[in-house]
Amino acid sequence: MELSFKVIIVGPAAVGKTSLLNRFVHNEFDLKYKLTIGVDFLTKTLEYEPSKFAKLHIWDIGGQERFKFLHRSFYEGAFGALLGFDLSRQHTFSSMKTWLSEMRSILNDDIPKVIIGNKSDLIPEIGQIIDRNEVEEYAKNEGCLYIETSAKTGENVEIAFLELTHRMIKKMGNIINNNKERL
Ligand code: GDP
Ligand code: MG
Repeated sequence: MELSFKVIIVGPAAVGKTSLLNRFVHNEFDLKYKLTIGVDFLTKTLEYEPSKFAKLHIWDIGGQERFKFLHRSFYEGAFGALLGFDLSRQHTFSSMKTWLSEMRSILNDDIPKVIIGNKSDLIPEIGQIIDRNEVEEYAKNEGCLYIETSAKTGENVEIAFLELTHRMIKKMGNIINNNKERL
């Protein structure tokens, strides 16, 4: 048996969503900014426990407002979500919150979510711009995990996907058990 999940990555433009996917799936990084147009899609099989595999179908969206018409089909069927903001740009944190409320208004179900503060490699250079305690408090209230990553160095990228996968597996297990009880 192989479990297969639709995962979405959302957040404002240029926070590094596409770069996180390229790091995770291809172990590559490019400093050139290539705008994601519409919706893109990558697949990766992850060994979430020794000899246990889950296939992730990861959907990446263009963050621009003009792609808003795509949002409903993008969210449909998602079983887990990564919500990204940019640790070097303060306003991306509040934009990310807007993405989370939009997600809640479209999805009836509460899916596992990980909030990602990306570009942690820039912190030694530019300092701590966003209050980490505030982000952690927010994540806790929303029932999300918070992880700081760098698509550039690869720091915590795999861990973020792994944590999300563990939460999706747990949720899937609960759904299966609940259905058994009904039989
Ligand atoms: P998206 O619009 O959210 O998909 O963002 P992209 O993945 O296209 O990245 C936007 C820009 O930020 C690009 O120039 C990337 O090279 C850069 N970038 C992405 N992740 C990182 C990171 O972890 N550190 C640094 N320093 N730059 C990054
Ligand atoms: Mg992109």
